[in-house]
Amino acid sequence: MREILHIQGGQCGNQIGSKFWEVICDEHGVDPTGRYKGDGSSDNQLERINVYYNEASGGRYVPRAVLMDLEPGTMDSIRSGPYGQIFRPDNFVFGQSGAGNNWAKGHYTEGAELIDAVLDVVRKEAENCDCLQGFQVCHSLGGGTGSGMGTLLISKIREEYPDRMMMTFSVFPSPKVSDTVVEPYNATLSVHQLVENADECMVLDNEALYDICFRTLKLSTPSFGDLNHLISATMSGVTCCLRFPGQLNSDLRKLAVNLIPFPRLHFFMVGFAPLTSRGSQQYISLTVPELTQQMWDSKNMMCAADPRHGRYLTASAMFRGKMSTKEVDEQMINVQNKNSSYFVEWIPNNVKSSVCDIPPMGLKMASTFVGNSTSIQEMFRRVSEQFTAMFRRKAFLHWYTGEGMDEMEFTEAESNMNDLVAEYQQYQDATAEDEGEYEEEGLEENYEA
Ligand code: GDP
Repeated sequence: MREILHIQGGQCGNQIGSKFWEVICDEHGVDPTGRYKGDGSSDNQLERINVYYNEASGGRYVPRAVLMDLEPGTMDSIRSGPYGQIFRPDNFVFGQSGAGNNWAKGHYTEGAELIDAVLDVVRKEAENCDCLQGFQVCHSLGGGTGSGMGTLLISKIREEYPDRMMMTFSVFPSPKVSDTVVEPYNATLSVHQLVENADECMVLDNEALYDICFRTLKLSTPSFGDLNHLISATMSGVTCCLRFPGQLNSDLRKLAVNLIPFPRLHFFMVGFAPLTSRGSQQYISLTVPELTQQMWDSKNMMCAADPRHGRYLTASAMFRGKMSTKEVDEQMINVQNKNSSYFVEWIPNNVKSSVCDIPPMGLKMASTFVGNSTSIQEMFRRVSEQFTAMFRRKAFLHWYTGEGMDEMEFTEAESNMNDLVAEYQQYQDATAEDEGEYEEEGLEENYEA
């Protein structure tokens, strides 16, 4: 069995992480005490359950999850919540100091003090695995703990397990949702780390999540609960290929191989269809063509960037529910044929799709989209502009230098993110002909020589 070890850190990371577990417990027929109360599709529900769960004595399923924070509040409410008893009590690691939305506290001071305690638990879980495939980390990039300490943990894990995969579910900050001004600093410092130390990042952009709640779901004042409902549906969709039997993207490495043509460009836009609001119990039923159409729509993307402003390097679609694979293939080919200019022509067959029999709870069919689109640079540009506006005047820097950080790290993080934007742009502009020209030039040089 190829296990995944899940880690959630900070307020946001713990909130979205625990929602993820509620959703997948439901899908695998595991009740809040960890017992299997399956629905008859037991083969499917249990066949790959060990990817995410340990089996304890007495047939109990225990999430292979580590929960960390620099303050106890969020984890206390998880522990006293509906699924609080499902987690292994030893896997709650927390401090009392808080990170005060300061990346430096998470990465260099308070977080650095707690990191060994977290690594001990991670090691223990990893040792219990038959053949660990990798890690998934849930965190926000705008705060201090998930962001600073989260990326510290990611770099420590990379050091200790260099050949294992590292996937992240990273929540990008938006002023529409939060009122902490230093979030662009924290996010940029984190992106600097994620470019180097993560293999694949699922981008969850609060700006887009807010817009979906407000515009599509008509919620006038979206709460974190509403945003997190979208996130947990998406996380369930993204991991569905890892959790249920099937061929496409069936482990973290295969997912990466299909989606990442250049190692730094591993930030994915994810989309979900149909979009439903929290608590809406209506049984929404859609056809395969409708699902396909919605799934590719920029309004369904969890990232505030418009795919039509860029091109797809690669993409994967996971359909769920009972449907015809042939119809799915036809619809997907149809989208590509009609929109061929939005796919780089120099990666043939860059869109893959799969069908998983088991739909998410409350839906007959759904689909999740994971795309490597050059348009994601729009989101990085947005954060970069907010970063630069403050950094130009060195505003708020003393909070970071006060924790021992050097201004140089800000400059490096800024240029790394700007380089990333430039790389996306470069591949957006690249055509198959460019390559031909290089070859011809090469030939001429050879002739001259
Ligand atoms: P930490 O505890 O120090 O890691 O800080 P937070 O996780 O609170 O980070 C603050 C950032 O996360 C801000 O951008 C918030 O908008 C965002 N955030 C906090 N909680 C949630 C949540 O439950 N859901 C979502 N989508 N975003 C959150």
